[in-house]
Amino acid sequence: MSTGAISRAQIGAGGAGAPVSHRPLGILAALPQELGDLIEAMRAESGVRTITHGQRDYHVGTVHGAPCVVTLARVGKVAAAATVSALIHAFDVDAVVFTGVAGGVGSEVRVGDIVVANALMQHDLDASPLFPRFEVPLLGVSRFTADGALADQLAAACERFVAEEGAASAARFGTREPRVHRGLIISGDQFVASATGVEALRDALPDALAVEMEGAAIAQVCYEYGVPCAVVRTISDTADDHAPQSFVSFLTEIAGTYSNAILKRFLEARRVA
Ligand code: SAH
Repeated sequence: MSTGAISRAQIGAGGAGAPVSHRPLGILAALPQELGDLIEAMRAESGVRTITHGQRDYHVGTVHGAPCVVTLARVGKVAAAATVSALIHAFDVDAVVFTGVAGGVGSEVRVGDIVVANALMQHDLDASPLFPRFEVPLLGVSRFTADGALADQLAAACERFVAEEGAASAARFGTREPRVHRGLIISGDQFVASATGVEALRDALPDALAVEMEGAAIAQVCYEYGVPCAVVRTISDTADDHAPQSFVSFLTEIAGTYSNAILKRFLEARRVA
């Protein structure tokens, strides 16, 4: 199906003939490595129903006890906005979680740390002097708040991961023991990979902890439709001249392990909540 709403029968929530009791959670990442083994885990647990819509594959099923729709947004704000819009309208998700990697911007944020967003903004949005820099024109918002309860649950899952596996993970990957930060994540349609680039972001937005390319777009769409959302990012690089190599090696070697560990704890806790 290429356009239009997707029926509940196609989504198959609750299985054939079963009453639909739960709206699913939408889980998305930009790149396949950022999802770890989530789709395989879903396949093993409930089976996966894959629906192609708007050139993306949406995987519907249950994983770690939670009904979910899992998909890849691809890279950038437009891709992210289109994908989360489909999750909301075609798949009727009741909340959205984004998992992925980001560049560290805050002075305390190192490769291997984890950042859970309290707020998100678009660092490359500037319609001044008509509107204040960073403000979404005609919406009157520059900082989009993540859902407090969802962000708390994500941060708790991250803290449990660090307590249970942080030391082993640091030894295995040669990073420091991961720290969990909460605060501002900024998004724009650039891969930031220079000392001057990251310095300019620090000057403009001194409380920014991490930079990436999708989160604030997702937060804006979720804000407009009243859908709770949260974003968790593992730091793959520090957005400086070393960022390209650091990003690639983190993405291929580490990102999936972190994502598996965090999402498993988050989804299991959600099931019992
Ligand atoms: N063609 C590349 C695209 C990666 S772009 C590939 O497939 O390998 C980088 C991705 O990681 C984006 O999704 C972005 O959200 C995140 N990211 C990690 N480090 C970043 C940085 N320093 N600046 C911007 N985005 C970053």
